[in-house]
Amino acid sequence: MNHPLQLKVDLSKLKHNAQRINDMCLVQGIEVAGVVKAACGQSLIAKAILDGGVSMLADSRIDNVRQLQRSGISEKMMMLRLPSPNQAEAVAACCDISLNSESDTILSLSEAAVKLKREHEVLLMLELGDRREGILPNDLLELVALIQDLPNIKLAGLGTNLGCLGGIRTTTGKLSELVRSVEQVEKYLQRPLRYISGGNSNMLPLVLKNEVPERINHIRVGFSILQGKDAYTDKPIESLATDIFQLEAELIEIQNKHSLPDGEVVIDAFGAVPKFKDVGIQARGIVGVGRIDTDLVTLSPVDKRVSVIGASSDHLVIDLTEKMKQEKVQLSDKITFNLGYGALLQAMLSPYVEKHMERDVNKARDTLLVSDIDTLNYLKKDEWLARLDSQHIVPTQIDSSVLLPLITNGKKVVLIHSLPLAILSVPFRKLESDLVWLHSRTCFESSSEKKQDSILYHLLEHQHVFSAKRSCLLGITHSPADEEKKLSGKGANLYTMEDVDLLGVREIVRKVLNQDLAGDRPITLVLDFSVLTGNEFAKGGLTYRELCQILEVLSNSNRVSNVIISSMYLNSERDLFEYRDYIRTICGHRILQESESVAVDEK
Ligand SMILES: *Cc1c(COP(=O)(O)O)cnc(C)c1O
Repeated sequence: MNHPLQLKVDLSKLKHNAQRINDMCLVQGIEVAGVVKAACGQSLIAKAILDGGVSMLADSRIDNVRQLQRSGISEKMMMLRLPSPNQAEAVAACCDISLNSESDTILSLSEAAVKLKREHEVLLMLELGDRREGILPNDLLELVALIQDLPNIKLAGLGTNLGCLGGIRTTTGKLSELVRSVEQVEKYLQRPLRYISGGNSNMLPLVLKNEVPERINHIRVGFSILQGKDAYTDKPIESLATDIFQLEAELIEIQNKHSLPDGEVVIDAFGAVPKFKDVGIQARGIVGVGRIDTDLVTLSPVDKRVSVIGASSDHLVIDLTEKMKQEKVQLSDKITFNLGYGALLQAMLSPYVEKHMERDVNKARDTLLVSDIDTLNYLKKDEWLARLDSQHIVPTQIDSSVLLPLITNGKKVVLIHSLPLAILSVPFRKLESDLVWLHSRTCFESSSEKKQDSILYHLLEHQHVFSAKRSCLLGITHSPADEEKKLSGKGANLYTMEDVDLLGVREIVRKVLNQDLAGDRPITLVLDFSVLTGNEFAKGGLTYRELCQILEVLSNSNRVSNVIISSMYLNSERDLFEYRDYIRTICGHRILQESESVAVDEK
């Protein structure tokens, strides 16, 4: 059953908007930071914006940044809100660059960066009339002089922010003031500044008119990517989607009522005196959403025949008169609303609103589920495959005599097979892929007679399909000590269940993706279900939840292009459904979130 109150996010439209804005800016030499603070740490939203090509992400909250990074995002990260000296260490730890205006804070950032052995970039904010953050142009050189000598801090550029407090328009004139200060600083430092960040979405109209001064090379855009609109006029920007976020709520009452309240009018639940127009009897509906979940001012029904009459904490009253003249409306029907920025922010934050991410369907269709005939026949019995198919994972049958080229024009292939057979029969040559080995055992015994005991040896040492240094083994419970030693000696990265207990699975996968296998090479995932707990090999193996989390983060990286599944023993109902969850997770569906209706992910 659908959650009664859902915020639907169309990720392909989001990517489209990010891409259009990014392209628009790039041709004028302006780099885009995708501002994701309104996403409240939802990694799929940030991912979609990154997919649009922006060169970095920006957020105003440390919690959000951490949440994004926990889910595997490792792109350059900008902190928008000035940190306090107390937050310096956290900001230096998780952000690469931050906006600043206070010398004490920058001193703390330097200390923290030294302690963490990291470099931190600082973008100095200039106050140009909006009267929010920033130093005055006259005080600039003094601060620059101070920063210049600080260890592990680099002055990366200058920026300004207009239109947020004072409502000041971003104009060519204001930006020219910024450029003048930049030239002053560059002259003093005798080097060019990397970033000259001209503003937020308010700067886009100038970009569209091609009126941005030449030296401005950076912009921080949130609103216009998410809303597809001009921040001043609230009018759509050409070729951008304006319906990325929609709120769906259920009708819980439909009755005919008079348009005027009856009795002595005092104040409503929010302290205002309500005013109503007398239009006689109306067909009124109540939908199960209220001010707790969203902001009414920027909420508008998609169906133009429906209008909002008013709302209290939990009830939104709408006029259905026009709609009901044309069609039947009944309880539990969904009413869909478009959300302005305020409504969107609040809906993202409300724990009562379920967030539903609609993925790029075409991408999911590119997953091919391949299986040998016996397994396939077994799976068919249960409509198990049909249900996978409905989620755009296409099951395909293979003849076991056919050799499968594992990478087929960019399609993701999930292969269910017995591991030795799959690996030994697949033409892996020229695979150019990293390896993630999720298995209870290392299988690196060169002397063993049994094929399944030496598969990894075969792949790394014999056929050189993968390199040890670009391989990660995860979830190991059984491995002879000398195998572990040999593998580590060759540079393979090995995480036992003890490491899982110590670090947690998300942290480990993050390390795998960002350090051990850093880069963007495709990943071949070997998933042997012996890695699960309760298995004969793995009394202390991974739990359902842990495995789902691992697969989720891997899938989010968009790098997994081949999956080989083995040891899938089909003996009980429960297993079968569990297996399907794992396969769907690899293919990018969010099982954990679905099953628990968790409002905010990765908490
Ligand atoms: C929020 C914010 C932005 C992004 O503003 P939008 O209007 O959403 O584009 C840019 N810079 C700073 C400093 C911000 O706080």
